[in-house]
Amino acid sequence: MEILELKKTIDNLSQELFSCASEQCDDRQLYELLLNLTQRMSQARRAPETGRKLYYFSAEFLVGKLLSNNLLALGIFDQVRDLLTEMGHDLSAVESMEPEPSLGNGGLGRLAACFLDSIAALGLPGDGVGLNYHYGLFMQKFRNHKQTEMPNAWIEQDSWLIPTDTAFTVPFGGFDLTAKMYDVAVPGAGNEYANRLHLLDVEHPAAQPESGIDFDKTDIAHNLTSFLYPDDSDENGRLLRVYQQYFMVSAGAQLILKELEERGYSMEELSEHVAIQINDTHPSMVIPELVRLMTQRGMDMSAAIEQVRRSCAYTNHTILAEALEKWPIHFIEKAAPQLVPVILELDRRAKEAYPDAKLAIVDEQNLVHMAHMDIHYSFSVNGVAQLHTDILVNSELKAFADIYPSKFNNKTNGVTFRRWLEVCNPQLTALIDECIGKDWRQDTEKLTKLMDFAQDEAVLQRLLDIKQENKNRLCRFLKAEQGIELNPESIFDIQIKRLHEYKRQQMNALYVIHKYQQIKSGIRPERPITVIFGGKAAPAYVMAKNIIHLILCLKQLIENDPDVSPWLQVVMVENYNVTWAERLIPACDISEQISLASKEASGTGNMKLMANGAVTLGTMDGANVEIAQLVGKENIYTFGTDSDSVIRMYDEASYKALDYYHRPAVEKLVDFIISQELLEIGDPVKLAELWRDMKRKDWFMALLDVEEYIEVKDHAFRDYEDRRQWAGKMIVNIAKSGFFSSDRTIRQYNEDIWHLK
Ligand SMILES: *Cc1c(COP(=O)(O)O)cnc(C)c1O
Repeated sequence: MEILELKKTIDNLSQELFSCASEQCDDRQLYELLLNLTQRMSQARRAPETGRKLYYFSAEFLVGKLLSNNLLALGIFDQVRDLLTEMGHDLSAVESMEPEPSLGNGGLGRLAACFLDSIAALGLPGDGVGLNYHYGLFMQKFRNHKQTEMPNAWIEQDSWLIPTDTAFTVPFGGFDLTAKMYDVAVPGAGNEYANRLHLLDVEHPAAQPESGIDFDKTDIAHNLTSFLYPDDSDENGRLLRVYQQYFMVSAGAQLILKELEERGYSMEELSEHVAIQINDTHPSMVIPELVRLMTQRGMDMSAAIEQVRRSCAYTNHTILAEALEKWPIHFIEKAAPQLVPVILELDRRAKEAYPDAKLAIVDEQNLVHMAHMDIHYSFSVNGVAQLHTDILVNSELKAFADIYPSKFNNKTNGVTFRRWLEVCNPQLTALIDECIGKDWRQDTEKLTKLMDFAQDEAVLQRLLDIKQENKNRLCRFLKAEQGIELNPESIFDIQIKRLHEYKRQQMNALYVIHKYQQIKSGIRPERPITVIFGGKAAPAYVMAKNIIHLILCLKQLIENDPDVSPWLQVVMVENYNVTWAERLIPACDISEQISLASKEASGTGNMKLMANGAVTLGTMDGANVEIAQLVGKENIYTFGTDSDSVIRMYDEASYKALDYYHRPAVEKLVDFIISQELLEIGDPVKLAELWRDMKRKDWFMALLDVEEYIEVKDHAFRDYEDRRQWAGKMIVNIAKSGFFSSDRTIRQYNEDIWHLK
């Protein structure tokens, strides 16, 4: 669209919506106007031609703000930004009016969002299916150095949700509910197509809870779509998850069969025309539900099972045992009794073919292993990074890989460079364009052309200048929104991700203690260090909340200590989400990816940070392994026990935290958690609980790797002082990041699994 035409469109819209000239609009009105414009432009687009059509089922879609992303996909980003500037406004100020949809939790949900973006950009027919959580995950607030949770009411009068006429009846045990479908348009970048994200919702959602995130988990009819992953520490919370899952997949399965019929095909042709991707185990009940619906509509059981098996593909996201869902069959009996005979029949057939108890869907304790059902009744099972897939095949799911060797395949995750480079880091994008042209936007592997500039002094200097500008920008945001003041001249060492013991934020906190003690004893770093954390802990995850408490206590201690504060700062960004990620990632010097080897299936934060010129400090885990292979050992800092050894230690139960705790260098770090200084700031019960757990249990072996971690991290900080050399590492990381585009991942899904066209 030409800028003049765009101006006219905007003028007309402002008359229509606000009966005023566009010059009189404030940022809020401009936001609503642009929302309206992008909605109309997206609605005018058609769906990609279908050969086979994909339905991507996921309990989460962490889409982030949509305005900039959609402007980019519609090809009017630059024009709108320039026009707003001419009108005396700023796109980022306009965008700050947009609430971030709270439909996801972390990496898994963000992956689903990147995938939808790439599926549309590649012009492939594929819609998302999920739930419309009214109060989202939760809004994180810090009070007394602790996390508290508030509802996140992100749905406004004007939002990206488009009501539709489509609704389905979902039969639960003892009552029915209507599932209403809302759509979010997903316009494809660089083409004329748009797909949809279908979000299912109850008809009469409950009002926001009065206090915090407590609500009546037994009031299914009103609260089914209130929160994502309601607290599952009690039985009602766990049961509500089953209701949520069944609601999503039953409506989704009915949608699939409806569209199949509308396209003129019979159920016997399902697998020719439909591919279903099951994103982790939450949507697994789509398998029995489709079988149930198809047999109810007259199809023979064996034929229905075969069609479903040829349509479904399952993505495994974790090997953490506690995350592999196993539902007591009486939960399903209560929520969706009609599904139980189908599940038992699927189980009977699986047992008949494969009597080994390890392979059962329903075990002796009457637990339904969702992943096992997925593997038996899908045609594809994929892991999300090479190491993760290898671990699935060789240990975690070996029994299954032995019987179904050809089902297993790897699809290393990716992220959309449109959001995670073009939109969030415009200066770096402009520099790349200047060096190698704009082709890389369509084919990110072309970023390797930047290697020609790895010795170019002028380019390297500009890379450093851009990083500095992005750090300054982050400082402004943190000051304005959270009152946090950072030293922009310091090194920004960033660990942003959900709080979990396996991700080992606690090991990073031990580094902070090490640095604090060093500075106290007179040993100062060459340059001030800022350690930045961001991430939410699950409300019922006590240890994760204790780690947040430790970090916030350390922040307070250091802030108030004039010996240390000029050299070391610790901050934790409140309510880490996609919006904060887009500000933090371009400003990062060192990307902390320090999970216990074998535990992080892939990671995607690592990829976003790499593409923005951060250098990784990480273990050989998940996609870090592939990053290391791409950039070479000069351009990444790796450390820690390797995944084979870790797996062996678990098998043999041979790790004893106390042995490592008793090393003098380690003991003084761990004991600092219950030092007088920290006990005066924090909650003695929580600090003692964390201290005890770390020295006696340390299930994720932070003490095993902490000494090497400190050594390698200090080494990285020293290397940072050779700015010229460091810029060389940055450019190699950017140049080699193109492999991690979700466009590449989706091409592979399509070629190997979906065959959409
Ligand atoms: C990318 C992203 C994640 C995933 O981060 P990991 O480091 O891979 O765990 C989580 N949350 C948000 C908001 C993200 O953008």
